[in-house]
Amino acid sequence: MYDFVVVGVGPPGARFARRVAEDGYDVLVLEKGRIGEPLACSGHVSTDIWQFTGSGAREELFQNEIYGARFHVGGPRSDAYPFYKQAVASNVIDRVGLDRHLAELAREAGADVREDHTVTEVTEHHDRVTVVANGPDGVVEFEAKMVAGCDGPRSRVRDELGLPQPDEFLHGVLAFSEEDDHQDFVDVHLTPPTFFAWRIPRGEAGVEYGLAAPPGVHVTKHFEDLIDGYEVDVSHRCSGAIPIGPPDRVTSQRAFLIGDAAAQTKPFTGGGILYGMTSADHAAREIDPDRPTTLAAYERAWRDDLAREQQLGHWIRRAYSLPEPIQRLGLGTLSGEIGVHMDRPTSLLSLEHLKAVLPGR
Ligand SMILES: Cc1cc2nc3c(=O)[nH]c(=O)nc-3n(C[C@H](O)[C@H](O)[C@H](O)COP(=O)(O)OP(=O)(O)OC[C@H]3O[C@@H](n4cnc5c(N)ncnc54)[C@H](O)[C@@H]3O)c2cc1C
Repeated sequence: MYDFVVVGVGPPGARFARRVAEDGYDVLVLEKGRIGEPLACSGHVSTDIWQFTGSGAREELFQNEIYGARFHVGGPRSDAYPFYKQAVASNVIDRVGLDRHLAELAREAGADVREDHTVTEVTEHHDRVTVVANGPDGVVEFEAKMVAGCDGPRSRVRDELGLPQPDEFLHGVLAFSEEDDHQDFVDVHLTPPTFFAWRIPRGEAGVEYGLAAPPGVHVTKHFEDLIDGYEVDVSHRCSGAIPIGPPDRVTSQRAFLIGDAAAQTKPFTGGGILYGMTSADHAAREIDPDRPTTLAAYERAWRDDLAREQQLGHWIRRAYSLPEPIQRLGLGTLSGEIGVHMDRPTSLLSLEHLKAVLPGR
């Protein structure tokens, strides 16, 4: 009997497995495919990412430094409203490499990480959980005191246990051109309804063009408009779901969700790498596999940390749907230097931000 079975090896799954293995727990980690594949993420993260990685990570994963974003109400030729920091605000990194790096750290800490194991069934009993997976040698069943569902936006663990769904799923698409681009700004286009399209310079790894929007929006058409506007050829198209709005409950008797399975994402960007790993740390600190009542402490801890950020993030997203003249006025008034942390919208009220925006600073 394992202490924990972790389903899914994205950043939160790998992070949780590493932390609890370091604490001496017996941990099995099951990944349905190859770690990091297929790619469906921009890997645009705050510099906090390096607090979660091991030695040599920056040399291996880093692609570009970003100081700010140029917002556009229209396409590439429309006016740009820059928001920027004096210091580096974020990094663009190799996301496939990140997942492999984090999984390796979990293995080094003692977790048993197995690829090619698709979890198909999860059943809770009063004293344990059983997890059934399809592996390379057929169907296997495992037992554990608890199961962690880190299996992404369309979580099988969430469905198996009848846990509630996130409020909404956006459809994200991205593709790459082969231009070398070391610019230190990303471009954000408020063109698709209720969300945005983007251009991310990835240094020698090329340029990424992407878009996310809710169901019902003609994502392909908006994406073609973006590519045509930039007059580029792109390849390696990929897509994925982005969950927004966490359900009321992400724990049950002997199971809990972390990461996209729990919609631990930023509502105004869809980014979830840092929120997922931050929540993984809360789970590792609070949950004792021998005391199921500790699951309530995890629910409280991650919401205490992130709920206000997510609420404010929802309000920021609403601005994407304002009438164009109001967007132009707002962007024109607010653009310039800022001191906001990209993962923490509440830092709009921070001294650092106020110092950056106040005249005569
Ligand atoms: C287009 C797009 C761009 C994005 N850009 C950014 C960005 O720039 N920055 C950022 O912070 N976030 C970004 N995100 C969000 C980010 O990708 C997610 O928040 C993050 O990947 C969440 O990690 P996760 O491990 O919870 O889920 P996932 O990364 O989806 O990982 C879940 C893992 O579980 C495995 N799995 C699923 N089902 C099973 C099963 N039944 N059995 C075993 N294993 C299973 C999957 O194979 C996968 O490896 C983007 C998302 C999209 C779609």
